[in-house]
Amino acid sequence: MQAAFRAQGDRGLTSPHSSSSQWRGMLACHETHFTMTFPFERIRHLLVDLDGVLYRGAIPLPRAQDFIVWLQDRRITFRLVTNNATLTPEQYRDKLAMIGIGISAREVFTSALATSLYLKEQGQAGRSAYVIGEDGIRQAVEDAGLEITADKPDWVVVGLDRQLTYEKLAVASLAIGSGARFLGTNPDTSFPNERGLVPGAGAIQAAITATTGVTPKVIGKPQPLMLKLAMADLGGSNEDTAMLGDRLDTDIAGAIAAGMPSILVLTGVSTREDLVAGSIQPTLVAANLEELMAKWPIPAAEHR
Ligand SMILES: [Mg+2]
Repeated sequence: MQAAFRAQGDRGLTSPHSSSSQWRGMLACHETHFTMTFPFERIRHLLVDLDGVLYRGAIPLPRAQDFIVWLQDRRITFRLVTNNATLTPEQYRDKLAMIGIGISAREVFTSALATSLYLKEQGQAGRSAYVIGEDGIRQAVEDAGLEITADKPDWVVVGLDRQLTYEKLAVASLAIGSGARFLGTNPDTSFPNERGLVPGAGAIQAAITATTGVTPKVIGKPQPLMLKLAMADLGGSNEDTAMLGDRLDTDIAGAIAAGMPSILVLTGVSTREDLVAGSIQPTLVAANLEELMAKWPIPAAEHR
């Protein structure tokens, strides 16, 4: 019932034939619906995606700095959860500081970090890996106790690599052909930067899959593993933790797979048209961070 009602509301919002008064009526209905269904009062922890939520490329999105302060004021603890495995948590902290967002490295949770935890859990310390990727995943694989080598590696780990060459694809494919296990940090086939959508880690993995016929085990969203690890890191549960992201096929699908409520902002990849066309539905939709903060009720304790 609720899903059908929500779908109708979204369809109404995107109808090109709506008059402005119809539009306002539908918008009110739409907002009321989401306000009633998203468990604002229970949420103590938030997993926050980065690209398309706090910034786009090197440009901060409006109210991004305010949003982090707003979370801190509300005592909503958070992890900045990103599928991007190119940077270390410290590099993310510094990158965010340059655009005026003050967080600690501890508050950053990347797919590289999750990949490292996975390799440790699998007891792979002392084994070896060939890595296609940048600092973030290289440091994370070393932190898990694996040696990085092109010579008969036990694993091939593939993340986004903006220095990708034909030789790297060849080494990875040959290693997998010789029996190395294939691990992907994240499945994003594209990601937004200042220029638009550009190839992501999933596109590099796809080239190796096309060569070898082997598909990788993927750690990042929409697989639930990374979100569950980040939630555990916050001491949260499915009852009091929500995911905030810009992408239906990774952020929202991952939240659904992890069993947690989700918020979609429309400042990144996914659009209202995608919402209408797709089967993956978030618990709440906000046009941007400003609208999300406006929608979030003031906790009852602050009225006293
Ligand atoms: Mg994103």
